[in-house]
Amino acid sequence: MVSSIESAVGTERKVVTEIPGPKSRALHERRKAVVSAGLTNGFPVYIERADGAIVRDVDGNQILDLGSGIAVTTVGHAVPEVIDAVSAQVAAFTHTCFMVTPYESYVAVCEELAALTPGTHEKTSALFNSGSEAVENAVKIARLATGRQAIIVFDHAYHGRTNLTMALTAKNMPYKDHFGPFAPEIYRVSMSYPFLDGLSGAEAAERAIKEIEVQVGASNVAALLIEPIQGEGGFIVPAEGFLPALSEWTTKNGVVFIADEIQSGFCRTGDWFAVNHENVIPDIVTMAKGLAGGMPLAAVTGRAELMNKVHEGGLGGTYGGNPVAAAAALATINTLRDRNLVARAREIEAIIMKGLRTLQQDVAIIGDVRGRGAMIAFELVEPGTKNPNAAAAKSIVSYCNQNGVIALACGTYGNVIRLLPPLVITDDQLLDGLNVLASAVRQAR
Ligand SMILES: *Cc1c(COP(=O)(O)O)cnc(C)c1O
Repeated sequence: MVSSIESAVGTERKVVTEIPGPKSRALHERRKAVVSAGLTNGFPVYIERADGAIVRDVDGNQILDLGSGIAVTTVGHAVPEVIDAVSAQVAAFTHTCFMVTPYESYVAVCEELAALTPGTHEKTSALFNSGSEAVENAVKIARLATGRQAIIVFDHAYHGRTNLTMALTAKNMPYKDHFGPFAPEIYRVSMSYPFLDGLSGAEAAERAIKEIEVQVGASNVAALLIEPIQGEGGFIVPAEGFLPALSEWTTKNGVVFIADEIQSGFCRTGDWFAVNHENVIPDIVTMAKGLAGGMPLAAVTGRAELMNKVHEGGLGGTYGGNPVAAAAALATINTLRDRNLVARAREIEAIIMKGLRTLQQDVAIIGDVRGRGAMIAFELVEPGTKNPNAAAAKSIVSYCNQNGVIALACGTYGNVIRLLPPLVITDDQLLDGLNVLASAVRQAR
């Protein structure tokens, strides 16, 4: 039995029990008996209701959400526009399968995606359930359209957990270990990582292109797949010029440029897509996370001449573009636009950057502060070096959690703290979160 809770969620962080509280601990015991140990919970407080940037747990703690469920609830929790659209659609119909009998909202989402994604060329789309599924389909389309097989991916990349996307993902633990064999014809090259490699964008691109040409051969390459700002890999923002140089190389060599905007898309970085900051126009864009306000929806949008090369029936899936998720996406996109959340992401960037840069002056463990919009991170090092300090990251996350703040770690070496607040977070909430974070950093070693 799940109880129905009607009381409103407050707007302030408030810790009223030990964390996790007794009810969360009891639920966690229940969980252990029936949920696979292969799934972890970073912060095991059980949530019963959420609003804006606050989630409330079953013990009545009001937790400030600086993670948005990993960049998903970008428009905030319980947004009235999304609630209304989803409720109306649930009452109308919940599923027909787009491949059997279609419905308007699927088409309307694809119209929005054609208009919003970079470039004025003709575009078509296909909708799916998860980011991984979108990436898999982008690879399928690029291989079919080019008649080539090789896929280029980068160090520190994260593209998902299905068989093909595990192969595309860089990090072994926890994503790949003992889950092989992995899909073939995937080649990993060097990423631009300015804090660690000190290279300009042009130099880093030259290095990557040389690796591709020497080890794979341009004419074998179907697609180059890249996160314009790497997510799980550590919020790595490539040096300026890196993405445009790669994009130019793909165009010259008949290679499909796939931008994986699953984490960075939908206003998160202070623009609709992260590639917009350098005016890069991808051939295909993969999207999910922030697209549908918390409902599961993913999309592949690309040049019509590539997307439409696929034979009839070659793309699809039972639930892809589910009507409830499609309704949520339309409401989410309208909310992002109506509330001008692109601009809000830039304001959030200014506030967070000011806070973190000030803090960096005071402590010896913050090596780098980076990111765009409301996708900002800092990299933790052993004082006086660039050696990763994962222990500090762990301690910071734990301190934040104990004080009612959701903060997430990431990075190949587990030494990066990333901030992904909902864009509707208020200044007061954000400053409160940054204060907790500052105390967390000061107590870490
Ligand atoms: C989360 C993520 C994925 C995978 O999405 P799922 O919905 O978890 O399958 C792929 N690429 C990037 C960049 C991501 O951040």
